[in-house]
Amino acid sequence: MTDSFDRPAILGGEPLFPQGSPDWPGAWDEVARSVQRSLSDGSWGKYCGPNHERLESRLCEFFQVEHVILCASGTAAVELALRGAKVGSGDQVLLAGYDFKANFQNILTVGATPILSDVQTADCQLDVSQIMAGASDKSRAVIASHLHGGLVDLPRLMAWAESRGLTVIEDACQCPGAMLAGRRAGTIGDVGVLSFGGSKLLSAGRGGAVLTNRPEIAQRIRLHTQRGNEAYPLSELQAAALLPQLDCLDDFNQQRLHTVNELRDQLPRGLSLLASKNDDTPAFYKVGLLYDPAEFSGLSRDAFSNALRAEGIAIDAGFRALHLIHSRRRFETLGPLPHSERADTEMLVLHHPVLRASGDFTTRFVAAVERIRLTASEIHSSGASRRC
Ligand SMILES: *Cc1c(COP(=O)(O)O)cnc(C)c1O
Repeated sequence: MTDSFDRPAILGGEPLFPQGSPDWPGAWDEVARSVQRSLSDGSWGKYCGPNHERLESRLCEFFQVEHVILCASGTAAVELALRGAKVGSGDQVLLAGYDFKANFQNILTVGATPILSDVQTADCQLDVSQIMAGASDKSRAVIASHLHGGLVDLPRLMAWAESRGLTVIEDACQCPGAMLAGRRAGTIGDVGVLSFGGSKLLSAGRGGAVLTNRPEIAQRIRLHTQRGNEAYPLSELQAAALLPQLDCLDDFNQQRLHTVNELRDQLPRGLSLLASKNDDTPAFYKVGLLYDPAEFSGLSRDAFSNALRAEGIAIDAGFRALHLIHSRRRFETLGPLPHSERADTEMLVLHHPVLRASGDFTTRFVAAVERIRLTASEIHSSGASRRC
């Protein structure tokens, strides 16, 4: 028996993070001032005002990219990227078997067929070698999503895709500001996408953007969004809220990376980080962790994450693998998808706000994991985790 001080919160102990996860984006002075200016100068009520324009040029500058098209969401941005790449009926689009569900659905929306590739064993990112070996004459585009702090090998994918005439759509919704091979993630592919959704690192509650250096792609997207008026708009107020956030992004990403590196050094057994320590600079919207139930007396991944949530830690299961949640008639695969399936059952994602919180996150996180490990059988048989 452990003493009551060490009992996991799910079994009645004191939670290690009694305040829970910090609010995000929460009250933010610079954002409030920027929005207040827009309210005061009347731009808030315009179709097209200075904030929208300013945000576009500020994003061009920050990402070092020629064209930015602001839009209503990251999901809309992926659809626009597909349309900009002229993907349509009869085409095939390659993507990972473990990816954001809306990316799969967007391929169907433009009339094309999703072709699923597996992800890599260690970091669960798109397996570029399998894409290169499996593409066919019908393949028109690849969606490459950087997920949970990992980075897809975009330079390698691009070199190959260019020689084959395929368009690469780089989904940087989870890593705005990340650096990959000396460039910002989202600008290495032919067309990149960002999300400004309510939980994301740059947030306006909703919103998104398409980035590209290819004038013909930008032109096709603008034609599609302009139907006498904007069909996928981002408002002046959203743009006003986003502008000051870009000034903080690199600093905040640095702070988040610092915490993740600390966590890596003290990572409890049974958890492994997707993000590797390498020359690139990742960004963390979610921190992906693979969970091994064998190290926790067989406690299931979902019972484990319930127990961590009871401690006040914002952690959840990752995505479902796409082939497990869609009818076989909707997609094809390049082969078996064992690593996507493993990600489906073993992935945990830690939400980013806690990475910038004051106080020693890593020590308390490790303490939470260890008290759960010690009582894993009890948690399992109590059924406590199922009540959440
Ligand atoms: C959040 C997200 C999107 C789309 O975002 P929305 O703005 O919520 O539509 C796309 N891809 C990935 C990988 C995401 O995490």
